[in-house]
Amino acid sequence: MNSTPGTEIIEVASGIYARLHENLTNAGIIVGDEGVLIIDSLRMPSFARDLISDVKLITDKPIKYVIDTHAHWDHSWGNEEFPDATIIGHQNCYLEMTDDQWNDQWRSKIVTGDDPWAEEAKIVNITPPNLTFDSSMSLYIGGRQLELLYFGRAHTSGDIFIHVPEEKLVFTGDVIQDRRVPYLGDSYPADWPETDDKIAELPIETFVSGHGPNGNHEDLLEARSFIHELVNSSKSAIEEGRNAEQATDSVIATLSARFGEWVGFDTLDERIPEVIAKLS
Ligand SMILES: [Zn+2]
Repeated sequence: MNSTPGTEIIEVASGIYARLHENLTNAGIIVGDEGVLIIDSLRMPSFARDLISDVKLITDKPIKYVIDTHAHWDHSWGNEEFPDATIIGHQNCYLEMTDDQWNDQWRSKIVTGDDPWAEEAKIVNITPPNLTFDSSMSLYIGGRQLELLYFGRAHTSGDIFIHVPEEKLVFTGDVIQDRRVPYLGDSYPADWPETDDKIAELPIETFVSGHGPNGNHEDLLEARSFIHELVNSSKSAIEEGRNAEQATDSVIATLSARFGEWVGFDTLDERIPEVIAKLS
């Protein structure tokens, strides 16, 4: 399939696709009888338009639903390109996307960066979900049930999982990634381990993540272990009365044997002080 350069579209189950974007953000595409559902609208309107073009390689059915796995800009700032779709997200995702401080902070970070989308970020019309839920919601598309699940705060306050029971498949957003360290800057480290324990109970064989490759249940458990060990070793360092720098060093030392090769492991020295502060 001749999709957007840098992307690869994998059919993970009949009519269900993972659109993986190298080093950027992935999306999901689910084709139903009447229309299409998209998981994550991606970082900018231009990226959403590329996604729409790629959907047209699969089907000419209209995009009727967009699900935001969470509020982060690289997953949801393409929402404005779907004016006719129902945009679904967790209630907390709505609150984050309508939080001026959250939006200003992210926008100024992006427009002052040197990424190719810095200019476009100035004019993004941040568009929150128009249908929200608290704990779960079912959606039937193409005769299949999609369970939209909220298990508590984790990577943000409003991360949701799109579970397709019939296919033993789940879309995990950024909470679960295959051998990658998730962004911790907006996270809730006190809650995240418990949220992961709930995802681990889903009877799935495959997950599609917001970044990186698809994984299996064993990879999911490994991602859970990373969060548990991060939080446990941070708590130990706090109990031992270490200062932020010593604590960061000891957490990294604890994690490096098992997770040192993971993508983004080198960002931890920047992120752990914040995790320690949140747990203190
Ligand atoms: Zn994220």
